[in-house]
Amino acid sequence: PLFSDLGLSEPLLRAIDEMGYKHPTPIQAQAIPYVLMGRDVLGVAQTGTGKTASFTLPLLDILSGSRARARMPRSLILEPTRELALQVAENFVMYGKYTKLTHALLIGGESMADQKAALNAGVDVLIATPGRLLDLFERGGLLMTQTRTLVIDEADRMLDMGFIPDVERIVTLLSPNRQTLFFSATMAPEIKRLADAFLQDPKEVTV
Ligand code: AMP
Repeated sequence: PLFSDLGLSEPLLRAIDEMGYKHPTPIQAQAIPYVLMGRDVLGVAQTGTGKTASFTLPLLDILSGSRARARMPRSLILEPTRELALQVAENFVMYGKYTKLTHALLIGGESMADQKAALNAGVDVLIATPGRLLDLFERGGLLMTQTRTLVIDEADRMLDMGFIPDVERIVTLLSPNRQTLFFSATMAPEIKRLADAFLQDPKEVTV
């Protein structure tokens, strides 16, 4: 398949082309059309499969086709570690080169004041680790009731690191009327239970 067959718009296709990607990877070819359709997606894929672009590209596409209505992040991406959060942010900058979308990072080891200032300016996408996100929420510095897309990445690592109660709490802070994308390298029973709790009629994509 070609990227241009997946339904992505011109600004995204141009950025992909400049990165030298010739063809979508299997997870991208399967997941991108469903995300663009607004469906929930359960993706079983490891890092290295092109998983990040499989949610970043269609999210950027969806967000660039509509405008923010409240000064709240429109999308939230949860990552288990600050390194992964930083990588996803880099991907957003590269793939979003021809969009005007903005992002903020909320991760440990950085100044909370700076991160809060970035958020208050209004962002399209918030990329966060669960602990830092709840920390800011508890100080009253974050509202996400209008946040309508949620990505839970590396769910199995979230589980290993003990973050699942935090993730469950965070999900309750978002709009119930949302699109959720859930990725895990494995589908252990505990992960399946979470996917069932967080996703509505998901399309399952396995590579
Ligand atoms: P990920 O699985 O998201 O960590 O991506 C693994 C690596 O593959 C990253 O360095 C990406 O830049 C690269 N990549 C992602 N999609 C493609 C593609 N369609 N063609 C070539 N490289 C890709």
